[in-house]
Amino acid sequence: MFMRRTALALLAGLPLAAHAPMAFADEAPLEVVASFSILADMVREIGGDHVALTTLVGPDGDAHVYEPTPADARKIAAADLLVINGLGFENWLPRLLDASGFQGETVVASAGVPPRSFGAAPDEDGHDGHDDHHDDHAGHEDHDDHAGHDGEHADHDEHHAGHEGHDHGPEDPHAWQDLANGVAYARAIGAGLAEADPGNADAYREATEAYVARLQALDSEIKARFSAIPAERRRVVTTHDAFGYFGDAYGITFIAPLGTSTEAEASAADVARIIDQVREQRVTAVFVENISNTRLSDQIARETGAVVGGALYSDALSGPDGNAPTYERMFAWNVDQLSRAMTEN
Ligand SMILES: [Zn+2]
Repeated sequence: MFMRRTALALLAGLPLAAHAPMAFADEAPLEVVASFSILADMVREIGGDHVALTTLVGPDGDAHVYEPTPADARKIAAADLLVINGLGFENWLPRLLDASGFQGETVVASAGVPPRSFGAAPDEDGHDGHDDHHDDHAGHEDHDDHAGHDGEHADHDEHHAGHEGHDHGPEDPHAWQDLANGVAYARAIGAGLAEADPGNADAYREATEAYVARLQALDSEIKARFSAIPAERRRVVTTHDAFGYFGDAYGITFIAPLGTSTEAEASAADVARIIDQVREQRVTAVFVENISNTRLSDQIARETGAVVGGALYSDALSGPDGNAPTYERMFAWNVDQLSRAMTEN
């Protein structure tokens, strides 16, 4: 189609943009809604001009505590394709979908990813089904009512949806923080676009493969970079527990005082425990995230002498002029901040 348009433009001696939209109204782009900025970037990489993209939770936005608007329901209603993370990340979505009457297809980007369970993260209510590991949480009675649902994750997720999405379920949703998973996301998105818009399937396939090759090269580069740093230097603090997949993939221990939530305040006991841990394990640096406030990390750094690193991008990209406007640049930036703190301090 693009070739035909180009030829016509040449014949007419006119710039493409001047007439392409009107002359080829039948080639209206595929209307895609992405739930948050990282998925939006992947859709943009693979879909290019064939896609008209809308993002629900934009740059520097916190999808954990997102409150959908009536405008979001209208955007979804008009979409051909919805791209979401899954793994309980968008727990505000089911209600939004009901409200929108969405009839299109949904791509769950994480569908091909082996999910990671949250470790011994100090979150307050994310682990009802695993009480044996969380004796220290016995005081949170308000959530123990649900103990009857042991192991039934569907019930568990509904329980969380009722709490306006302050927390995750038992699975760690931040799977995009491992580039190998990013490759699976890209493939799921590419396949979803091709299915929804078969006329451009070849373009989506080619773009997916080119993108995947770049992600794989970046993945190898990052592994090489961290493996050159001694393991005992690869320990850092982040505010919320968003880097579990990253840590598993690249051999870094992340200590996260806020657990899985971005909204909760750490208790004084949590902070004291983290400070002990930082001292004991000689943690090199404390990082903040672009979606969190800096008060807690400042306090931990002050009391332990660890340095405060630059902001890491966990759950959202930056705006176009920021340090992490794309998924690839997010990794490059985060790796740079982390490795610099580990080697210079
Ligand atoms: Zn998160």
